[in-house]
Amino acid sequence: MQGLIEPEDYVHVLGPKHSVLDELRAVCHTTGQEDAFYLCDVDDIVHKMQLWRQLLPRVRPHYAVKCNASRVVLSTLAALGAGFDCATKGEIEEVLSLGVDPSRIIFAHPAKPATHIRYAAGCGVNLATFDNEEELYKIRALHPKCKLVLRIRSDAEDAMVCLGVKFGCDAEREAPRLLRTARDLGLQVVGVSFHVGSGCREQKAYRAAIRAARLVFDAAAGLGIRTMKLLDVGGGYPGEPADEQVFLQMADAINSAVAEYFPSADVDVISEPGLYFVASAFRLAANVHSKREVRGDAGELKGVMYYINDGVYGSFFDVINRRRFRGEPLEPHDGAELVPSSVWGPTCDGIDKVEDDVKLPQLELGSWLVYNNTGAYTVAMACTFNGVPVPRVHSVVSTDTWMQLRDRAPFSDAHFVPSLATGRRHTSASLVDSPRRLALQLQVPVQYQVQY
Ligand code: PLP
Repeated sequence: MQGLIEPEDYVHVLGPKHSVLDELRAVCHTTGQEDAFYLCDVDDIVHKMQLWRQLLPRVRPHYAVKCNASRVVLSTLAALGAGFDCATKGEIEEVLSLGVDPSRIIFAHPAKPATHIRYAAGCGVNLATFDNEEELYKIRALHPKCKLVLRIRSDAEDAMVCLGVKFGCDAEREAPRLLRTARDLGLQVVGVSFHVGSGCREQKAYRAAIRAARLVFDAAAGLGIRTMKLLDVGGGYPGEPADEQVFLQMADAINSAVAEYFPSADVDVISEPGLYFVASAFRLAANVHSKREVRGDAGELKGVMYYINDGVYGSFFDVINRRRFRGEPLEPHDGAELVPSSVWGPTCDGIDKVEDDVKLPQLELGSWLVYNNTGAYTVAMACTFNGVPVPRVHSVVSTDTWMQLRDRAPFSDAHFVPSLATGRRHTSASLVDSPRRLALQLQVPVQYQVQY
């Protein structure tokens, strides 16, 4: 039996006395709840948008869908007026299904299959990136009205994942030739994009990239191209609370570089943050279903191997990229003896190891390990290898934030139900503020209602 029965379209409204952690516990203690699951805190996403707008008022974020395409994330960001960076036809479909206008999408993949370009043309997604000549010929044939953004390479030295090895042309050596080809094909290049690398910790990387983008704008002007009006400062921004200071410094660096190199308000500035918006909004709870004690020749306990129901083929794929995850037992364990331990995923594969060489209190079977800051590149990369299900997402929102979101497309009131922590699962009578709301059948999944 599975404990979480409600569709992921629901967002659970926390009562005034309840916290996100209360809800996490309530789900863990729901009868039959064994499967690993995520708890998504919608308020955290809203806070990130507020912070972004406060710190980077000139930069319009286009959320990078690849990072976490959960319905609740896309709906929240759509309701908050974000744009979207889609890399594939599937991602475009998902965003459009929320009723987002195609003009809010940038097709930000420099190497696109022909079918995906045709699809973009058919549904009115008219802004896309490129970094090579072949792409220009494809776009000329399949979507000649598409406005184009030239992706240049400008890598941070300090980033978790370097994307420049795969995408981005050289701003000085290659960009002028590509601009000339585009012009000669009658295509409209409107701007420049870059991605300094995911999980970047270096503000100067953005300054260098914006400066390089300026060179490309100047080269375009020299070629008689008068359509350049978009600067896309990509992704890479950190999203964990501990990194907020780093983000503040990055924002400063971006603001001052944009003011210096692109002082005219005629140039629109957009970005493609992924991790920033979702990292801290998600906590993963995984269940310890098995354990093995490791003993020495004299029978002494040397360590414990725990097996949990999510692993490297699920949420922890990024272990392959040497990202480290640390689980905390859900139950308090102050003063308990800590034992050398390792934590393993559920599949039969030997590489499916989540944590190595950690100290944990002795955990009973059925205990929960909680992994904070797991919104980015986790659930999005999970597969069902060995028949292991991908964890579902259980979302919560505070009453105040619910009041702000409830009437904003793609949300409607019917997406919001009370949290489990309130103990009243199937009525929101105590949380709603008008009789009209009370009349809604909260258990009936509704189509997202959308108007832009
Ligand atoms: N834009 C592009 C083109 C990307 O490839 C990525 C990540 O791979 C992103 C944006 C999002 O990056 P991040 O999650 O580091 O902000």
